[in-house]
Amino acid sequence: MSAAAPKSCVIGWPVAHSRSPLIHGYWLKTHGIAGSYEKAPVRPEDFSAFVDAMRAAGYVGGNVTIPHKAAAAARCDRLTERAERLGSVNTVWFDGETLCGDTTDGLGFLGALDQEAPGWDAQKGIALVFGAGGAAAPIVDALVGRGFARVVIANRTIAKAEALAAKLSCDVVALDEVAPLLETADLVVNTTSVGMSGQGDLALDLAALRPDTVVDDIVYVPAETPLLRSARARGLRTVGGLGMLLHQAVPGFSHWFGMVPEVTPALRRLVEADIASGA
Ligand code: NAP
Repeated sequence: MSAAAPKSCVIGWPVAHSRSPLIHGYWLKTHGIAGSYEKAPVRPEDFSAFVDAMRAAGYVGGNVTIPHKAAAAARCDRLTERAERLGSVNTVWFDGETLCGDTTDGLGFLGALDQEAPGWDAQKGIALVFGAGGAAAPIVDALVGRGFARVVIANRTIAKAEALAAKLSCDVVALDEVAPLLETADLVVNTTSVGMSGQGDLALDLAALRPDTVVDDIVYVPAETPLLRSARARGLRTVGGLGMLLHQAVPGFSHWFGMVPEVTPALRRLVEADIASGA
């Protein structure tokens, strides 16, 4: 009897709009792997029972998304150092009976910059990060890990930036005091939801940025946010959020299906088309 095909899933509530099935489905198909990846809508009160039953149900692991990331970190038997540090897990897999967890958004963020703006970290000087929400923590952690001399968080609610800075090695600046930092920044990153379709603009004066500053916006709907459009108009190198979404998926796929997939232009086009369709 042949072994059952490995199954994976994205566990969230709600989960209907997740693009992970599209990404992993593409890799399964292009690599001819007999596996599957599905959406698992799981209410918060059912998360623990769902995870308890995963192995018997044939899952080799899965992604975990809002609102379960902290619960997944608490539930895992073994965590990577970064998942432990951040108290958050977006990828789980079984090593025998042991449920292992990692948080891969920081890897995705770095992977996109490495692929789309090679040499972006040549200076490893100052990174200025806007936002202190769920997405900011792994990004700040990744930039510190990459060796940036100074990572500074600017957020509307300064107490949230301070709470993050208490956990990670970074500084905090108020949004209205950010101007002097702009001319020294090697990298400017938007992790706020400002810039999402219909949600306005960070209104930064990009004239202060050096010509070699790289501007990254992790928002991926729209593909080009007002911030990226202004940066590109000034001739700066820019990186959008789609690459991070695609690269964060790589470690999970390799844990579950045994090969490291690539983020290719064809995959990017597929997901771009899905976003453009408004699905
Ligand atoms: P979140 O936890 O809700 O945090 C939202 C952040 O945006 C907070 O820092 C918030 O500031 C700030 N913000 C919201 N409205 C603002 C406004 N009008 N002016 C100034 N700041 C404002 O959200 P998240 O999970 O971090 O996600 C943030 C964005 O990243 C979303 O657009 C999401 O789609 C995107 N994202 C992309 C990827 C990817 O793979 N590319 C991954 C994760 C998230 P306060 O603290 O002051 O409220």
